Amino acid sequence: MLVAAAAQQGLLDIPTLVFAAVCIVGFLGLLLITTWLRQRDVRALAWWGSAYLIGAAAVALWGAPDPHVKLPPEVPEALIFIACGMVWNGVRLFHGRRLWPLAAFAGAIGWLILCQIPGLEADSQARIGAGAIVVAIYTFFIAYEMSRERRKSLYSKTAAILVPCLYAGTFLLPLGMRAFLPGTYAAHWLTAFALESMIYAVGTAFIVLLMVKDHHVHFYRKAATTDGLTGLLNRRAFLEAAAKMQAAQGGRGEPVTLLMFDLDKFKSINDRFGHATGDSVLKVFAQTMLSSTRASDIVARLGGEEFVAMVPETKEDACHVAERLRANFEAAGVTVDDIAIGATVSSGLATSYRAVADIDALLQRADEALYRAKHEGRNRFRCADEEPGSEQVRALAAAARQKAAGGLVRRWVARRPKATAAVATV
Ligand code: GH3
Ligand code: MG
Ligand code: MG
Repeated sequence: MLVAAAAQQGLLDIPTLVFAAVCIVGFLGLLLITTWLRQRDVRALAWWGSAYLIGAAAVALWGAPDPHVKLPPEVPEALIFIACGMVWNGVRLFHGRRLWPLAAFAGAIGWLILCQIPGLEADSQARIGAGAIVVAIYTFFIAYEMSRERRKSLYSKTAAILVPCLYAGTFLLPLGMRAFLPGTYAAHWLTAFALESMIYAVGTAFIVLLMVKDHHVHFYRKAATTDGLTGLLNRRAFLEAAAKMQAAQGGRGEPVTLLMFDLDKFKSINDRFGHATGDSVLKVFAQTMLSSTRASDIVARLGGEEFVAMVPETKEDACHVAERLRANFEAAGVTVDDIAIGATVSSGLATSYRAVADIDALLQRADEALYRAKHEGRNRFRCADEEPGSEQVRALAAAARQKAAGGLVRRWVARRPKATAAVATV
């Protein structure tokens, strides 16, 4: 309304605005495409950049002075719908989903067919309404794709709210102006559209570049913390996560147990069936670890055929985990890649109640227990002796727990007299 009023008073010069919008949207389109040329792995950038260029062409066609370009009015509209479809496909691609190129063009094709129906002439209410529906559908799809994103970083959360809002504001508002404002104001829908498309292009390009940066940070962080063969955490990431778990558990007087695994006679598996089959056995073991533990447990590959897990459990409970894993792998390792292998695993367990993380000491104690398991015949687990001074640490932890529980009971009892009094008076 304000924009229309300003334009009517001659404060906004439409051709200049349209020219500025075409330049800005086109320039940002080129910026996104050049960014894609340098970072070919983010193919969504090419889709978004092309969508901006198509959008700029549509604005240029709308604002082009007659009689240089004489195209039916549905052509720039169809171009805008193609741009909407491409932005939507770009979002799908960015989040690792399949491209639907046909759906990107479906809105435009449908539109060109629709415009042939009598009664849907340019500027008719019905036509503006139909255009708004097409834009609203694409806006909904974009919002849906963004809200489905599992890895919710700050940028993607912001983008999931801002982009569809910008989108709806840019495309639906001018359509609304055309449809509902009185004729003199409605004529300025193009001014509003040119202004908003600039805000939209700058806003979304900024968000898109932040999302791409976020994507790379995530990619490199994952590469630095994951084991390439099995997808489990690597040694470095394990040491970091395990130290945090031990400090948190120990701080509450609760234990952690470290389980160290070593596949039995693995060298012989490699020698008899080949390195590739050996790799498959390692992957099967990694899967067994994941399926036999909780999501809150930490599981990792230390290197070679050695794996490790840390669980926030006492020695007794962790023994159940070790036995479950041993039995599950014994079953899964009977045949791997359709070859009868009979792979098994041995493990060593070490428990700690300490609040100061010392993963190296835990690894060493678990390794000694593992050595015993190997020595006593393999395909079994053994537990390390209690850590030095463990009795004292456990007693202190139990006292702290009791004190905390006592505090809770006291607080509960403190509230009781009111209730008792109420009962007594009844
Ligand atoms: P033990 O029961 O005493 O543990 O015997 P082992 O044969 O499993 O122990 P050893 O340490 O002698 O052999 C480990 C083998 O693991 C040797 C190495 O070639 C193999 N290995 C290490 N990393 C990989 C890998 O990434 N893939 C494959 N296929 N083999 C690996
Ligand atoms: Mg080994
Ligand atoms: Mg081994």
